[in-house]
Amino acid sequence: MADSRRSGRMRAGYGLAACALALLVGCDTLFHNRNELIPSATIAPPPLPGKAGAQRVSQFVFYSDTPIKPNAPLFEELSQLRDQVFNELHLPPSNTIVQVYLFDEQSKYERYMRYRYPELPKRRAFFIAHPGVPGGPRELFVFTYWGDHIRQDLRHELTHALVNSVLKDVPLWLDEGIAEFFETPPERNGLNLLHLDAVKRRSVPVDLPALERLDQVQQMGRLQYQEAWAWTHMMLRSTPQARAVLLGYLQSLREPKPAGALYPRLAELYPAPGDALARHLAANDLPAATIRPVIHRR
Ligand SMILES: [Zn+2]
Repeated sequence: MADSRRSGRMRAGYGLAACALALLVGCDTLFHNRNELIPSATIAPPPLPGKAGAQRVSQFVFYSDTPIKPNAPLFEELSQLRDQVFNELHLPPSNTIVQVYLFDEQSKYERYMRYRYPELPKRRAFFIAHPGVPGGPRELFVFTYWGDHIRQDLRHELTHALVNSVLKDVPLWLDEGIAEFFETPPERNGLNLLHLDAVKRRSVPVDLPALERLDQVQQMGRLQYQEAWAWTHMMLRSTPQARAVLLGYLQSLREPKPAGALYPRLAELYPAPGDALARHLAANDLPAATIRPVIHRR
């Protein structure tokens, strides 16, 4: 399954041993000592892309060996992702720069990631956060390559970067649910047809408390990504009350004290949140013919 997962994320933290912790934010979130980002090996590191210079789009700075046209459809769309995410989630916009490295070839990307982050599993893309200078904002990076899934992968990873630029310690399931919501093309309005179909076929109830107990990246498999998307989509696209639960929870994540679990808040609104989710999924019924297979899914 490892190769079918397309992206991952890692955080870096001062004073923590490399690979020591796989914490709560994302596909593969690890905290690293920044000093350990420079491997001790004496071989020359594989180069980062950037021969074509840096191209800023919104708060993202792209580095590529292939010249980037900011007015190309992909980058025009990405330039709107920032407003889309912050407006939808009612979060204060951040201006933290996200550095995005786009490799020309998958092999070059993989060679670089193996060298720089040898402990990470193989993924199509990574979001990585380093702590930056003490007291300052974190440094946010995205690594990926020009491939067939670049639009989806960039939308997913840049969503992680945007959310994590303003929130700390986003629960693992929710960070992924939000990224899965925004990775869909804007015209889909957060509706992931494959996830919708998969969750509706599920014979066992979709269990949010179980999802909230997950704190290890390795525990997030395909089913958990689908369920994370389903709960996120239900709250954002069913009723104003459900939406208020999620938005209120996101605001509580900005507070110093722990936000706790989201499920009890949802249970105050719905006696049986699982039934509310089932109703929402049924309301978004779509003919099977509209569901196109995608090879690389998590
Ligand atoms: Zn992710």
